[in-house]
Amino acid sequence: MRNLILFGPPGAGKGTQSAFLVEHYQLVHLSTGDIFRANIKGDTELGQLAKSYMDQGKLVPDEVTIRMLESEVNKHPQAMGFIFDGFPRTTAQAQALDVFLESKGQSIASMCALEVPEAELKTRLLARAETSGRPDDANPEVIQKRIDVYNHETAPVADHYRAAGKYQGIDGVGSIEDITQRLTEAIGA
Ligand code: AMP
Repeated sequence: MRNLILFGPPGAGKGTQSAFLVEHYQLVHLSTGDIFRANIKGDTELGQLAKSYMDQGKLVPDEVTIRMLESEVNKHPQAMGFIFDGFPRTTAQAQALDVFLESKGQSIASMCALEVPEAELKTRLLARAETSGRPDDANPEVIQKRIDVYNHETAPVADHYRAAGKYQGIDGVGSIEDITQRLTEAIGA
């Protein structure tokens, strides 16, 4: 089983690159942002709760997010591995993921971190707003809040995997194909 974390700030290209990696490595893609958005669309209780945080660019509380992620993993007992996209976003989430995977005799193989300068992230997110329909992409204040939250709460998660020798930084600027190539070289066969 191969479990990968695709890491990086909002707008780094995690969703775009996940689509390729899922196909190439036959993995199950779990994007916590996508799952929250599906719940918002379905007007579930979880969706209503998540929306109140997402609209402000804040993180959904750890307890709710971790429970949801574990339940999603448990829906795929036959998976050859997972790509975690947008999770873990706090050190508490990373620790919970370690414990959860360990209880299944599993672990994270690697964290691939897409590195993109802040100015480029903002340009990309505003461009994405034209097609994504995401309210959190369309508002420059919410974009700034998401980037600040990333810098303060999420970036430290990289240290957790660095300490375990699992961190791989990838230059996230360039064509989609070039970045895919860098990722596959980093991940290996
Ligand atoms: P994303 O689609 O990854 O950009 O996530 C969109 C929004 O969903 C974030 O700004 C958060 O409000 C929420 N979210 C997604 N993943 C997480 C997570 N792992 N922990 C807390 N909130 C999350």
